Amino acid sequence: MARGNPAASPARRRPAGAARDAESARVEEIFARLAAANPEPKSELEYANPFTLLVAVVLSAQATDAGVNKATKGLFAIADTPAKMAALGEAAVAEKIRTIGLYRTKAKNVVALSKRLAEFHGGEVPRDRDALEALPGVGRKTANVVLNVAFGEHTLAVDTHVFRVANRIPLAKGETPREVEDGLVKIIPARFMRHAHHWLILHGRYVCKARAPDCARCVISDLCRYPDKTV
Ligand code: SF4
Repeated sequence: MARGNPAASPARRRPAGAARDAESARVEEIFARLAAANPEPKSELEYANPFTLLVAVVLSAQATDAGVNKATKGLFAIADTPAKMAALGEAAVAEKIRTIGLYRTKAKNVVALSKRLAEFHGGEVPRDRDALEALPGVGRKTANVVLNVAFGEHTLAVDTHVFRVANRIPLAKGETPREVEDGLVKIIPARFMRHAHHWLILHGRYVCKARAPDCARCVISDLCRYPDKTV
């Protein structure tokens, strides 16, 4: 006989629904405050077009944005298209970026991806995840950055800062970047998705720092549940 599950009755469901609503309101408020503090966040990587953005992001793995900018200044001055980068060749690209870690491998990837763009994509950066991830040196995180920054897609790249703050605040807990990415995409309101990636990176880089979060300066401290926060 179907008696129904008392736990599923409307009266029992209400608290869970209320908790969900409160959590949605909390997430909304977190992003509203990050947005108010920095309405138009920008990538700290310097680039001139989708191609140079792609190259800068590939070069930024295990390197600082400032270090990448220093190296790409000279590189992009002479090679800002796939054809020019391919023509420059691996040795010359390596020479230009030798101040960046893993520069030999990165130079190889940059020239190979430039050739591929020239050969298969008419010299354009494709607005397509699979095509981007098929390029040498390009993984999911890089594809997410390019899709978001160059094309305005609602993707969210999870780097070390986003991973830390998402687990810490918490917004979306996860043991892998992909788990965190999926969790964040699920809870962040659509109106904040365009810039969510930058707000979280900048928050992690300058305020919610790895070793010593600057909780006294944090605009979301009252909404944060990190047990070790300092306010
Ligand atoms: S209160 Fe502290 S730990 Fe929490 S988000 Fe802000 S800076 Fe990070």
